[in-house]
Amino acid sequence: MDHVVAKIGSPPQVIECPRCVPVCLMTSGILDSIGNTPLMRLRHASEATGCEIYGKAEFMNPGGSIKDRIAKAIVEHAEAEGLLRPDSVILEVTSGNTGIALALVGSVKGYRVRIMMPRTVSAERRHMIASFGAELVLIDEINRIQDAVADSVRMAALDDRIFLPSQFSNPVNALCHERTTGPELLQQIPGGFDAFVMGVGTGGTVMGVGRAIRKAGRAARIVALEPDESAVMSGQPRGCQGIQGLDDCFIADLVNLDEIYQVGRIRTEDAKEMRARLGREEGLLVGISAGANVLGAMQVARELGPGHTVVTVLCDRGERYLSLAGA
Ligand code: PMP
Repeated sequence: MDHVVAKIGSPPQVIECPRCVPVCLMTSGILDSIGNTPLMRLRHASEATGCEIYGKAEFMNPGGSIKDRIAKAIVEHAEAEGLLRPDSVILEVTSGNTGIALALVGSVKGYRVRIMMPRTVSAERRHMIASFGAELVLIDEINRIQDAVADSVRMAALDDRIFLPSQFSNPVNALCHERTTGPELLQQIPGGFDAFVMGVGTGGTVMGVGRAIRKAGRAARIVALEPDESAVMSGQPRGCQGIQGLDDCFIADLVNLDEIYQVGRIRTEDAKEMRARLGREEGLLVGISAGANVLGAMQVARELGPGHTVVTVLCDRGERYLSLAGA
C-alpha cells in the first residue's frame, strides 16, 4: 500500500506515510495556522544578482500578514500576565496590518478590539477589520500616529478595561520574531545565509530575527530598510512616502541601530514597480513593502557578490492594496 490513510478527527491527526511529508489534517482553530510560513526562492531576483534570494511568505498567515504573529503573541502574553479579562478592550494605533491581526485574534478569543488608523489606509483594510467585528477610529493624517498613540495612553489611564498592545514599544513584538520567525529561517536554510533584509515599521521583525541569528552563532548581515523619502534612521527629516507598513515617520522604541549592520533606502516608486513585477513574473500578489524588501535584498546581494544567500520577507498579501491607485 502506497499511502497510509488516517481518519479526520480531533485531536489533530497526521498522515504518516514514508513517501509523503506529514500533513496536519485538523487544528484547534485559525490561530494555530499562524507562523511556519514557507520560504520561497525568488527566481528573477536570484538570476539578476547571481545570488540565492529567498522571501519568507508571511502573506500566507491567516490574516494575510506578518503581524498575525505579534498579535497572537502579545495577546497571549497579556493573558498569561493577567492583563486581560473578559470585558477588556484591546486598543491599538496601527496603519493596518496589526489592526487586522488584532481584530482576528480578538474575534477568536472573544475580546472587544478598537483600532485607530489613518484615514488614508486602503478601504480593504478598514473592511477587513470591521469584518472581524472590531471598531474603527479614523485618524486624519499619518503624521498624527504619535499623537494618536498619546491619546490611546490617556484613554487607557481613564478606563481600566483598556489594554494597549503598544506594538511600537512592547518587547514581546521583537521577542516573538526572535522565537518564531528567526528560528524558522535558520531551520529553512540549514547551511546559513549571508544577509537578512527587512523594511522597518516597529522594527520588531528586524530586531527579533537579528537576535535569533546572533544567538545561533551565525554572522549574517542584518540590513534595515526605510523609505528614501522619509529616511529618519539615516538622520533625514520625515517626509511623504507610500510604502505602507514602513510609514510610521519616527524611529520606534524597539529599534536599536547598534544591532543593525546597515540601513538601506528604497524609493516608493521603485518599491511599487517591484511589487507589480512580483505579481507578473513570480505569481506573488504581495504588498508594497515586499517590493521594497526584494529591492533591498537585491542591493545587498550585489554588494556581497555572486554566490551569496540573502533572505527577506514578503510581509503581506496584495489584495488589500488593489483599490489604491498606482499601488
Ligand atoms: N511591511 C508591512 C506591510 C507591515 O505592515 C509592517 C509592519 N508595520 C512592516 C513591513 C514592518 O514590520 P515591523 O513592524 O516588524 O518592522
